[in-house]
Amino acid sequence: MNILMFGPPGSGKSTHSRTIVERYGLVYISSGDIIRSEIEAGTALGKEMQRYLERGDLIPDTVVNTLIISRLRRNRNNFLIDGYPRTPAQVIALENYLYDHGINIEVALEIFIPKEVSIKRISGRRICPKCGAVYHLEYNPPKEPGKCDYCGSPLVKREDDEEEIVARRYDLYIKNMEPIIKFYKKQGVYVRINGNADIENVWERIRPLLDYIKAKESSYRGSS
Ligand SMILES: [Zn+2]
Repeated sequence: MNILMFGPPGSGKSTHSRTIVERYGLVYISSGDIIRSEIEAGTALGKEMQRYLERGDLIPDTVVNTLIISRLRRNRNNFLIDGYPRTPAQVIALENYLYDHGINIEVALEIFIPKEVSIKRISGRRICPKCGAVYHLEYNPPKEPGKCDYCGSPLVKREDDEEEIVARRYDLYIKNMEPIIKFYKKQGVYVRINGNADIENVWERIRPLLDYIKAKESSYRGSS
Protein backbone atom coordinates (compact mmCIF):
# COMPACT_ATOMS: atom_id res chain seq x y z
CA MET A 1 0.00 0.00 0.00
CA ASN A 2 1.44 3.35 -1.10
CA ILE A 3 0.06 6.57 0.35
CA LEU A 4 0.49 10.31 -0.19
CA MET A 5 -0.45 12.57 2.75
CA PHE A 6 -1.50 16.19 2.49
CA GLY A 7 -2.96 18.72 4.89
CA PRO A 8 -2.85 22.42 5.80
CA PRO A 9 -0.89 23.66 8.84
CA GLY A 10 -2.37 22.27 12.06
CA SER A 11 -4.27 19.44 10.31
CA GLY A 12 -2.48 16.74 12.33
CA LYS A 13 -1.15 15.17 9.12
CA SER A 14 2.25 14.26 10.53
CA THR A 15 0.78 12.73 13.70
CA HIS A 16 -1.56 10.56 11.64
CA SER A 17 1.22 9.72 9.17
CA ARG A 18 3.25 8.23 11.98
CA THR A 19 0.30 6.17 13.22
CA ILE A 20 -0.40 4.87 9.71
CA VAL A 21 3.24 3.96 9.10
CA GLU A 22 3.33 1.99 12.33
CA ARG A 23 0.02 0.19 11.88
CA TYR A 24 0.57 -0.88 8.28
CA GLY A 25 4.34 -1.36 8.36
CA LEU A 26 5.13 1.34 5.80
CA VAL A 27 8.30 3.31 5.17
CA TYR A 28 7.86 6.94 6.22
CA ILE A 29 9.21 9.44 3.70
CA SER A 30 8.86 13.03 4.90
CA SER A 31 10.25 15.79 2.70
CA GLY A 32 10.78 18.00 5.76
CA ASP A 33 12.65 15.28 7.70
CA ILE A 34 14.85 14.43 4.70
CA ILE A 35 15.77 18.07 4.12
CA ARG A 36 16.57 18.59 7.83
CA SER A 37 18.69 15.44 8.02
CA GLU A 38 20.67 16.36 4.87
CA ILE A 39 21.36 19.78 6.35
CA GLU A 40 22.41 18.29 9.70
CA ALA A 41 24.68 15.76 7.98
CA GLY A 42 26.34 18.64 6.11
CA THR A 43 26.27 16.92 2.70
CA ALA A 44 26.91 18.99 -0.45
CA LEU A 45 23.18 18.91 -1.16
CA GLY A 46 22.46 19.81 2.47
CA LYS A 47 24.70 22.87 2.24
CA GLU A 48 23.02 23.93 -0.99
CA MET A 49 19.58 23.63 0.62
CA GLN A 50 20.66 25.56 3.67
CA ARG A 51 21.64 28.47 1.43
CA TYR A 52 18.17 28.55 -0.11
CA LEU A 53 16.47 28.45 3.28
CA GLU A 54 18.73 31.14 4.73
CA ARG A 55 17.80 33.43 1.86
CA GLY A 56 14.14 32.62 2.51
CA ASP A 57 13.82 30.94 -0.90
CA LEU A 58 12.04 27.73 -1.73
CA ILE A 59 14.23 24.73 -2.40
CA PRO A 60 14.11 24.08 -6.18
CA ASP A 61 11.90 21.25 -7.40
CA THR A 62 14.83 19.40 -8.98
CA VAL A 63 16.60 19.14 -5.60
CA VAL A 64 13.48 17.96 -3.75
CA ASN A 65 12.69 15.47 -6.53
CA THR A 66 16.19 14.00 -6.39
CA LEU A 67 15.95 13.52 -2.63
CA ILE A 68 12.52 11.90 -2.60
CA ILE A 69 13.13 9.69 -5.60
CA SER A 70 16.42 8.41 -4.24
CA ARG A 71 14.47 7.30 -1.12
CA LEU A 72 11.89 5.61 -3.32
CA ARG A 73 14.59 3.67 -5.15
CA ARG A 74 15.50 2.10 -1.80
CA ASN A 75 11.85 1.40 -0.84
CA ARG A 76 9.94 0.52 -3.96
CA ASN A 77 6.65 -0.34 -2.28
CA ASN A 78 4.78 0.13 0.98
CA PHE A 79 5.61 3.75 1.60
CA LEU A 80 3.88 6.86 2.87
CA ILE A 81 5.09 10.22 1.56
CA ASP A 82 4.33 13.20 3.81
CA GLY A 83 4.39 16.70 2.30
CA TYR A 84 5.31 15.84 -1.29
CA PRO A 85 4.54 16.52 -4.15
CA ARG A 86 3.80 20.20 -3.57
CA THR A 87 4.16 21.65 -7.10
CA PRO A 88 3.08 20.48 -10.56
CA ALA A 89 6.75 19.90 -11.50
CA GLN A 90 7.10 17.59 -8.48
CA VAL A 91 3.95 15.70 -9.49
CA ILE A 92 5.40 15.12 -12.97
CA ALA A 93 8.73 13.86 -11.60
CA LEU A 94 7.03 11.52 -9.14
CA GLU A 95 4.50 10.19 -11.64
CA ASN A 96 7.20 9.54 -14.24
CA TYR A 97 9.22 7.59 -11.74
CA LEU A 98 6.22 5.56 -10.55
CA TYR A 99 5.05 4.85 -14.09
CA ASP A 100 8.50 3.69 -15.21
CA HIS A 101 8.66 1.28 -12.28
CA GLY A 102 5.06 0.03 -12.41
CA ILE A 103 4.26 1.42 -8.95
CA ASN A 104 0.79 2.68 -8.00
CA ILE A 105 -0.37 5.16 -5.39
CA GLU A 106 -3.42 3.60 -3.72
CA VAL A 107 -4.57 6.73 -1.92
CA ALA A 108 -3.79 10.44 -1.79
CA LEU A 109 -5.19 11.41 1.59
CA GLU A 110 -5.86 15.00 2.54
CA ILE A 111 -6.71 15.79 6.15
CA PHE A 112 -8.65 18.98 5.77
CA ILE A 113 -9.46 21.68 8.31
CA PRO A 114 -10.97 25.14 7.72
CA LYS A 115 -8.79 28.23 8.02
CA GLU A 116 -10.24 29.31 11.42
CA VAL A 117 -9.37 25.92 12.88
CA SER A 118 -5.85 26.03 11.45
CA ILE A 119 -5.29 29.47 12.99
CA LYS A 120 -6.80 28.47 16.34
CA ARG A 121 -4.74 25.27 16.59
CA ILE A 122 -1.43 26.84 15.63
CA SER A 123 -1.67 30.28 17.19
CA GLY A 124 -2.53 28.67 20.55
CA ARG A 125 0.83 26.89 20.58
CA ARG A 126 3.42 27.93 23.16
CA ILE A 127 6.92 26.58 23.45
CA CYS A 128 9.55 26.54 26.15
CA PRO A 129 12.65 28.27 24.74
CA LYS A 130 14.85 26.44 27.24
CA CYS A 131 13.84 22.76 27.03
CA GLY A 132 11.71 22.74 23.86
CA ALA A 133 8.49 21.45 25.46
CA VAL A 134 5.38 22.29 23.41
CA TYR A 135 2.04 23.36 24.89
CA HIS A 136 -1.33 24.52 23.64
CA LEU A 137 -3.40 27.09 25.52
CA GLU A 138 -6.57 25.09 24.96
CA TYR A 139 -5.63 21.47 24.22
CA ASN A 140 -2.51 20.99 26.32
CA PRO A 141 -2.05 23.90 28.76
CA PRO A 142 0.86 24.05 31.22
CA LYS A 143 -0.02 23.40 34.88
CA GLU A 144 0.79 26.99 35.75
CA PRO A 145 -0.19 29.56 33.10
CA GLY A 146 2.77 30.79 31.03
CA LYS A 147 5.32 28.55 32.79
CA CYS A 148 7.02 25.35 31.59
CA ASP A 149 6.02 22.25 33.60
CA TYR A 150 9.53 20.80 33.30
CA CYS A 151 11.89 23.68 33.85
CA GLY A 152 9.75 26.63 34.94
CA SER A 153 10.89 28.92 32.10
CA PRO A 154 8.44 31.47 30.71
CA LEU A 155 6.71 30.11 27.58
CA VAL A 156 6.87 31.94 24.27
CA LYS A 157 5.04 31.96 20.98
CA ARG A 158 7.09 31.13 17.87
CA GLU A 159 7.16 33.86 15.25
CA ASP A 160 5.86 31.37 12.66
CA ASP A 161 2.83 30.71 14.85
CA GLU A 162 1.53 34.30 14.78
CA GLU A 163 -2.00 34.47 13.42
CA GLU A 164 -1.20 36.47 10.27
CA ILE A 165 1.64 34.12 9.35
CA VAL A 166 -0.49 31.02 9.88
CA ALA A 167 -3.25 32.61 7.77
CA ARG A 168 -0.74 33.27 4.99
CA ARG A 169 0.68 29.72 5.16
CA TYR A 170 -2.85 28.34 4.99
CA ASP A 171 -3.75 30.41 1.92
CA LEU A 172 -0.52 29.41 0.22
CA TYR A 173 -1.23 25.75 0.91
CA ILE A 174 -4.72 25.99 -0.63
CA LYS A 175 -3.38 27.81 -3.69
CA ASN A 176 -0.44 25.46 -4.27
CA MET A 177 -2.44 22.30 -3.70
CA GLU A 178 -5.29 23.12 -6.05
CA PRO A 179 -3.75 21.67 -9.27
CA ILE A 180 -2.26 18.75 -7.34
CA ILE A 181 -5.57 17.75 -5.78
CA LYS A 182 -7.25 18.10 -9.16
CA PHE A 183 -4.69 15.69 -10.61
CA TYR A 184 -5.17 13.02 -7.93
CA LYS A 185 -8.95 13.39 -8.15
CA LYS A 186 -8.70 12.58 -11.85
CA GLN A 187 -6.58 9.56 -10.97
CA GLY A 188 -9.40 8.43 -8.69
CA VAL A 189 -7.20 8.13 -5.60
CA TYR A 190 -7.94 11.38 -3.77
CA VAL A 191 -9.77 11.14 -0.44
CA ARG A 192 -10.54 14.10 1.78
CA ILE A 193 -10.85 13.40 5.49
CA ASN A 194 -12.55 15.91 7.77
CA GLY A 195 -9.82 16.76 10.26
CA ASN A 196 -11.95 19.04 12.40
CA ALA A 197 -12.27 16.75 15.42
CA ASP A 198 -9.92 15.37 18.05
CA ILE A 199 -7.09 13.03 17.04
CA GLU A 200 -8.89 9.80 18.01
CA ASN A 201 -12.02 10.72 16.03
CA VAL A 202 -10.06 11.70 12.95
CA TRP A 203 -8.11 8.46 13.20
CA GLU A 204 -11.39 6.51 13.23
CA ARG A 205 -12.22 8.18 9.91
CA ILE A 206 -8.88 7.17 8.39
CA ARG A 207 -8.46 3.65 9.74
CA PRO A 208 -11.49 1.92 8.12
CA LEU A 209 -10.52 3.27 4.72
CA LEU A 210 -6.94 2.05 4.96
CA ASP A 211 -8.00 -1.29 6.46
CA TYR A 212 -10.26 -1.74 3.44
CA ILE A 213 -7.50 -0.91 0.94
CA LYS A 214 -5.10 -3.20 2.77
CA ALA A 215 -7.60 -6.09 2.79
CA LYS A 216 -8.27 -5.66 -0.93
CA GLU A 217 -4.53 -5.70 -1.59
CA SER A 218 -4.05 -8.95 0.36
CA SER A 219 -6.94 -10.62 -1.45
CA TYR A 220 -5.38 -9.75 -4.83
CA ARG A 221 -2.15 -11.31 -3.72
CA GLY A 222 -3.95 -14.36 -2.40
CA SER A 223 -5.80 -15.00 -5.66
CA SER A 224 -2.85 -14.60 -8.02
ZN1 LIG B 1 11.02 23.99 29.74
